[in-house]
Amino acid sequence: MAAFPLKPQRTVCIVRPMMSPEARTSPLAVPITSLWGVGAERSVPLARLEIHTVEDLLLHRPRRYEDRRHFRAIAELTRDEAATARGTIVVQGLKRFRGGRKSVFEFVLDDGTARLHCRWWNLPFMEKYFAVGNEVFVFGKLVETKPRMMDHPETEVIEGGKESFIHVNRIAPVYPLTEGLPQRWLRGLVWRTLARFETHITEPQAGRGTRCAPYPSLPSRANAVRMIHFPEELTDVEIARRRLALDEFVELQIQIQLRRRNFEAKSRALPCGGDNRLMKPFLKQLGFRLTGAQTRVLREIRADMGGAHPMRRLLQGDVGSGKTVVAACTALMALESGYNVALMAPTEILAEQHFRNFQEWFEPLGAKVELQTGSRKTASDTTKPAALPVTRHPSPVTLVVGTQALFVSGFDLPHLGLVVIDEQHKFGVAQREQLVRKGTYPHLLVMTATPIPRTLGLTLYGDLDVSVIDELPAGRGRVRTFVRSADRLPKVWEFIRKKIAAGRQAYVIYPRVEEQDTANDIKAVTREFENIQRALAPFRAALLHGRLRSAEKENVMAAFRASQIQVLVATALIEVGVDVPNATVMLIENAERFGLAQLHQLRGRIGRGAHESQCILISGAKTEAARERLRVLEETTDGFRIAEADLKLRGPGEMLGQRQSGLPRFRFGNLMQDLDLIGQARNLAGQILDGPGKKNEDYTCGTGGFLGS
Ligand code: ADP
Ligand code: MG
Repeated sequence: MAAFPLKPQRTVCIVRPMMSPEARTSPLAVPITSLWGVGAERSVPLARLEIHTVEDLLLHRPRRYEDRRHFRAIAELTRDEAATARGTIVVQGLKRFRGGRKSVFEFVLDDGTARLHCRWWNLPFMEKYFAVGNEVFVFGKLVETKPRMMDHPETEVIEGGKESFIHVNRIAPVYPLTEGLPQRWLRGLVWRTLARFETHITEPQAGRGTRCAPYPSLPSRANAVRMIHFPEELTDVEIARRRLALDEFVELQIQIQLRRRNFEAKSRALPCGGDNRLMKPFLKQLGFRLTGAQTRVLREIRADMGGAHPMRRLLQGDVGSGKTVVAACTALMALESGYNVALMAPTEILAEQHFRNFQEWFEPLGAKVELQTGSRKTASDTTKPAALPVTRHPSPVTLVVGTQALFVSGFDLPHLGLVVIDEQHKFGVAQREQLVRKGTYPHLLVMTATPIPRTLGLTLYGDLDVSVIDELPAGRGRVRTFVRSADRLPKVWEFIRKKIAAGRQAYVIYPRVEEQDTANDIKAVTREFENIQRALAPFRAALLHGRLRSAEKENVMAAFRASQIQVLVATALIEVGVDVPNATVMLIENAERFGLAQLHQLRGRIGRGAHESQCILISGAKTEAARERLRVLEETTDGFRIAEADLKLRGPGEMLGQRQSGLPRFRFGNLMQDLDLIGQARNLAGQILDGPGKKNEDYTCGTGGFLGS
């Protein structure tokens, strides 16, 4: 009887999560050392591969596969393509030189079509592994054709005996290894372990209920595990990977949805729907009409603010899409309802900017606005806003604008109805969680301009509802982007001078390496600044970086805003939020040192007024690939496309920055390509948690008009 059906099964039962108590007592949880042939010695390198249990071994994913049913004739090997050949060693030897410090081991392989030389430099012990007459596989590319030569090919001696069928005449898995683990030994171990434990590989959700849900056209988990190690055809590998990835995603989605459900079960929402008495005059004096997207998003938010559960909403909107106004309207809903509001910004500059805007907007309406950053407070720590009874006209209610200091100082705003976090990607998951742990449950709106590819959104922010502002306000000047090499800088500066003479302003950005500006970065930027100042006279430039005192930063920003300064030379500090519409030129030096998403953010500082804007990326990159990467920015201003390109090019960890930890490690799942699986997993998790009979409800927003429904 075949060990597993070759055709994927139609449906399977989903039932028990992998990490449930039952799973921990599963036969697969036994230590790897309980297997025959795995002693203390072998357990050490296995542990280096994070293989501690039988389950770990069964989920150890092959790095590649070798089709050992067909071989390339040695005569047909090429320099361009790695291939597997099979032959007999006809001669071998070790040569030492440089007084024995260097060596080369070489054997010559013959398969009847031609001979192949295989060399290993400075690995003299290789000699022990081979003997003339051995039959071996080699995998690699030719480095020379006369004679045919491979350097450091992967090899495996073909041994006879009763287990040889595991290694030859099939598609053989090639595993990631570590020192002290022979490929052949590991493959044999996986084979035997699979034979013994395959029947214990159960469907992960078994036991959660009796309900069966379909995994459309995917094999059972047990089949998938077998197929990932010993596929019958190479196409089986991807089928198996998808099934195992789906299990990973379902498990994660169950965690996410449980967290959300627990939260909703234990928290009651504060009634913050508002009554429009501040909103109406606010919108009237704004000077522009909300875009359709802003209105739609506000309708979603209003439903949350007046709903049964505290809002947990992520607001995504590309740079310049007008998130601040949405935050203001949301704040007004809470203020109208008699609750205080906290607004957190990632940098002091941005907190200052918000403080000024909100003061201008809210104080005429009778709401108080305060600033609280690490270095500046408009109200002393002890003067907390009075606790407010929820009456018809509570006044004055307060909006406190601050940086992280709002949290770390143990700042405690009574009657807190709403927390808004601007530029969420700068805060990180852990800090967001802090809010929830505080014991009270204000509504929470987190805003980000980093477009988050859907795969990441669903895994990282799966417990938040998502609103997207997918429309820019009309009347914005176009932003054009150019990638140039450093030798074009004189021309670029000529261009900038012309723009300044015409009344515009410019940003000049130098990369910063660390999260905080380092002394080295500052030195570099200071030196450049002096050059720029000289070259630019009589126009004025100013320098802005993270090591400046807050008061200095504020002065510089104020002067720039007032057009007293034409060029702002800065580190990436200004990345987020800064809004000066007359600044229409941006020059970014060493642009290759930034991620694409970050460059997109930086570029978002221009194109905020009616004038056409230009962004010039100076690339010091040596490689064509690095320049190619930057061209994505030349081609599009669509933040989502850029984020997806960034995700593909650099991976999720890099893209989000080191702060954004909390991303689970997947063995099989791939955040760059598995959007469909993640979506499926989300629905499956909902079905599993609901149990039989209940339809999965997608957390979406309410309906109803935004103003006065
Ligand atoms: P971001 O989403 O990047 O935070 P902002 O909220 O800073 O963007 O808005 C960018 C600029 O667009 C601001 O000057 C703001 O006043 C303006 N703005 C916002 N909404 C609209 C609108 N509906 N019509 C015109 N201008 C708008
Ligand atoms: Mg903003």
